[in-house]
Amino acid sequence: MITPFIRTVLGDVAAGEIGRVNYHEHLFQVSPLLPGDELTDEAASRAEAAALRASGFDAMVDATPVGLGRDPRAVARISAATSLKVVATTGAHRDAHYADDHWLRNLDETALTALFLADLTTGMPPNDDGPPGARSTVRAGVLKAGIDYWQISAFEQRALSGVAAAHVETGAPVMVHLEFGTAAHEVLDVLEAFGVRPSRVVLAHADRNPDPGLHLDLAARGAVLGYDGMARPRSRTDAELLDLTADVVAAGATVVLGGDVARRSRYESYGGMPGLAYLGRRYLPRLAERIGHEALSDILTSNAHRWLAWDVR
Ligand SMILES: [Zn+2]
Repeated sequence: MITPFIRTVLGDVAAGEIGRVNYHEHLFQVSPLLPGDELTDEAASRAEAAALRASGFDAMVDATPVGLGRDPRAVARISAATSLKVVATTGAHRDAHYADDHWLRNLDETALTALFLADLTTGMPPNDDGPPGARSTVRAGVLKAGIDYWQISAFEQRALSGVAAAHVETGAPVMVHLEFGTAAHEVLDVLEAFGVRPSRVVLAHADRNPDPGLHLDLAARGAVLGYDGMARPRSRTDAELLDLTADVVAAGATVVLGGDVARRSRYESYGGMPGLAYLGRRYLPRLAERIGHEALSDILTSNAHRWLAWDVR
């Protein structure tokens, strides 16, 4: 039997050996939706990765998909320098992150599938400035798609299909960006029709619609709930997120946690606040008090490991 593995930017590791996982952050990201908030400075991103490591995490998923400023070789250098294991992402974000004339929009479902598969199995291109030519040896370990608020555009549908096809071929884990937690059942329906089991899918930002009843329905289908909305009191308080988490965990849902801080104005190393360390420093101690250290450990380790480990094909 082949041991389940997790694919990091520095190579494959046994699923149980990756430690405490933050399921969703970004080391590099450039998007027209976030002007002035670009993550492009390797030294600053390295310092932030080190702060995340010092806050108690052994690993993170860099959730930046194709075409949004990925720099795989720099991510690999940061991982080596900080001893923070990093799982990189292929796939596409929701429509709004791409300019109207972005090259990724020209690819059909077959071409998207081939692109995602090459990122997973051969290596990601050194940058995403145009359709890939040369490829690095740094491989992605997660497939991502994104949809809008109660809407799946034609491009998003093609990307979802490409992600599903690449998953069926490889068994790599899947993450889907949801806007305010909408259309979660519908996305699972689309993916299931292609043969992706809900247990292989993290519903990212599910907590933006903090409805425990809905979340338990999604969990009953097997889906993994991605919570990452802490430190955003303009939307809701950490106390509300703690309540939601305690409720769904007590009822048996599978949750993973990240910070998705994502903007340079929120990174300490870029001169902002609260930084990637907020989750470990401020939030996790409160969550441990609510649900206990063992339940928290399951969230950060076994839940994340089961999702990240590739299905044996
Ligand atoms: Zn994100």
